[in-house]
Amino acid sequence: MLSPGAVASAVQYDQALQSASPAEVIAAALEAAGRDGLALVSSFGTESAALLKVMADVDPAIPVLFLDTGWMFEETLAYRDQLILTLGLRDVRTIRPATDALAAHDSDGDLWSSDPDTCCRIRKVEPLAQALAPFSAWINGRKRFQGASRAAIPVVETDGGKLKFNPFANVTPDEIGLIYASAKLPPHPLVASGFASVGCMPCTSRTAHGEDPRAGRWRGRAKTECGIHTSAG
Ligand code: SF4
Repeated sequence: MLSPGAVASAVQYDQALQSASPAEVIAAALEAAGRDGLALVSSFGTESAALLKVMADVDPAIPVLFLDTGWMFEETLAYRDQLILTLGLRDVRTIRPATDALAAHDSDGDLWSSDPDTCCRIRKVEPLAQALAPFSAWINGRKRFQGASRAAIPVVETDGGKLKFNPFANVTPDEIGLIYASAKLPPHPLVASGFASVGCMPCTSRTAHGEDPRAGRWRGRAKTECGIHTSAG
């Protein structure tokens, strides 16, 4: 259960950080939770390097949690390793689904097709909840420009009794491009072949010019989120 105090602080942090830069938001999260109480969750996707660069400039030892669902592109795993070296990330932790959950629900490896919500639950939501258990606050890279479901995200909110900081809530695609350009960050290897947003292999497709960047995720289904950001409000 979320304590009334945590709700009050999320609202207060959100109000105080409305105009803060991403680095200032991460510094505030660090001050609020301490390095032992704070984690950044990254998919090592097409825009991830920008947030990881800002975090590394604040403190490269903040724990970074990466969910390897078992369905990641090889290119994403290689990109993770490249960014660890490029940015000097000191504490990247790869977390995986529980083997008993996979055996019970997805022994044939086709749950993504028949029941993607359960697949996301056992491969993403539950492992992440377990990995986040020791932390009181976390950082993620969602942006308001990513579509209707993210258009109103606050800078700071509560989720499952924890503070959740969204340092990129207010940023624009151009600002992200600027971070990549000024720091000479390597692009995700799949961007060049038309992937604007990269998640699990079976649920990711290329996007056409002018399409919403996340249109290639779960294409043809009503699903737009994996559940990581919708579990606790
Ligand atoms: S994105 Fe697709 S493959 Fe990945 S966990 Fe969700 S349903 Fe399964």
